[in-house]
Amino acid sequence: MADRTARQAQATIHAGGEWLEAVSGATREILDPADARAFAVVAEGDEKDAERAVVAARQAFDRGPWPGTPVAERAALLRRVADLLVRDREELGLLESRDAGKTVEEGRVDIDCVADAFRYFADLVAAEAPGRVVDAGSPDIHSVVVHEPVGVCAMITPWNYPLLQASWKIAPALAAGNTFVIKPSEITPMTTIALIDLLAEAGLPAGVANLVTGPGHTVGARLAEHPDVDLVSFTGGLISGTKVAQAAAPTVKKVALELGGKNPNVVFADACATEEGFDTAVDQALNAAFIHSGQVCSAGARLIVEESVRDRFVAELARRAGKIRLGRGTEDGVECGPLVSEQQRAKTEAYVASALAEGAVLRCGGKRPEPAAQRPESGYFYEPTVLDRCHREMKVVREEVFGPVLTVETFRTEEEAVSLANDTEYGLAGAVWTADAGRARRVAGRLRHGTVWINDFHPYLPQAEWGGFGKSGTGRELGPAGLAEYRETKHVYQNLAPKPVRWFAG
Ligand code: NAD
Repeated sequence: MADRTARQAQATIHAGGEWLEAVSGATREILDPADARAFAVVAEGDEKDAERAVVAARQAFDRGPWPGTPVAERAALLRRVADLLVRDREELGLLESRDAGKTVEEGRVDIDCVADAFRYFADLVAAEAPGRVVDAGSPDIHSVVVHEPVGVCAMITPWNYPLLQASWKIAPALAAGNTFVIKPSEITPMTTIALIDLLAEAGLPAGVANLVTGPGHTVGARLAEHPDVDLVSFTGGLISGTKVAQAAAPTVKKVALELGGKNPNVVFADACATEEGFDTAVDQALNAAFIHSGQVCSAGARLIVEESVRDRFVAELARRAGKIRLGRGTEDGVECGPLVSEQQRAKTEAYVASALAEGAVLRCGGKRPEPAAQRPESGYFYEPTVLDRCHREMKVVREEVFGPVLTVETFRTEEEAVSLANDTEYGLAGAVWTADAGRARRVAGRLRHGTVWINDFHPYLPQAEWGGFGKSGTGRELGPAGLAEYRETKHVYQNLAPKPVRWFAG
């Protein structure tokens, strides 16, 4: 990994191949959520820095070699990036852990997934036919549909999977021949900054990859509205996403939104009929809700369990949730890190308080860990929390908490299970657990969510589209549709024997 001490630490804005400080000279401290101490300082960019980066990306698209670089060369570069990610896996995994508060092992897995995304999009474009020849019904007409890069892409990413979310945008955008400006979350920019260095090391021409660190309401808003930006791809919360869509509308640029979720995990009693089945369903419900302290867009935060098995299921779930080892992500044996910020913990606490006020029954958690269990004390830790006896009208059931909070609702019939699972304004992901293959397919077919797992939770595949129904967003990442987002489609119709039309007689 490039030696980041070799240049001014706060020169973290990348425009036209140069690392720069913010025009205003402002900086921001990046905190380790495990101890709330600053471990890095970055530039705090604003609209002026966004402008500089867009100018560089525009020039690189309009006059640079990248959009016209042969597909095989683009694919080769993406594969080199994947190799560099593998080379720097330990350092990047550690950096992601410190930045986002996740365990180092989660950080490493993230880096593997980032490398997979680069390889996937390299393979996808390398295997494509250059265009689709259309039968125009005449030997004198040659008609072909081709795909071209959109142009300058603005990318705005969240703090929970900083580099992974960035890679789902950067890899297809580069594969398609675009240039880009990325704005990582202002609180977790470190691995995205590091990736820009790897792209240069892999040979990406200057100006193709640009990055502006800074807040959403200044940098992000300017990128979304900028007339020289052709596409904005946003991953984040619903409120920010709607602002991005509004800012983008006057310029009619392409908009892709990957927003939040309130994801149901539906467990039928037949899935728990054997000890092994019960253990698996509980274990996966735990994982669905609490991995990365629930700060996952597809977290299985709503357990919807058949009433006949509820008591046993919830008792075991709460017993195991209470044993999850919290701590600094770099410590051995730690299973869950802190929340990313004081703000995120305060939000989580407010949701739990509202749930209890509305009648939920606390089965475990519901508080900050005792100081002895919380190392170090000042980190943003919160105990995994199970709230039983919830119902669909509760705020905690309807809104995304984005913390380690699992709500429990029950059903008696399949119809009721489907109705509950679909009763959300979101529609990102959901799961059904059952031993009945027919029921599995019926329920999966009726769930209004972008990803449905049957007897599993959380896996995704780079080759399968990811995205949401409803207010979980528009557009898709990953898979062929995730590449198509970064392309314009053009029909080239060539008349090989032109003649007058004589529509007009005169
Ligand atoms: P957020 O909306 O607060 O911020 C996301 C990004 O948007 C940040 O870079 C932020 O600076 C920027 N931003 C904020 N306001 C903006 C504005 N007005 N204009 C332009 N940019 C703006 O979200 P977050 O708290 O960082 O991330 C958590 C959210 O992200 C959750 O809702 C989660 O579900 C969602 N998410 C979704 C997916 C998915 O694949 N659907 C993946 C990860 C996270």
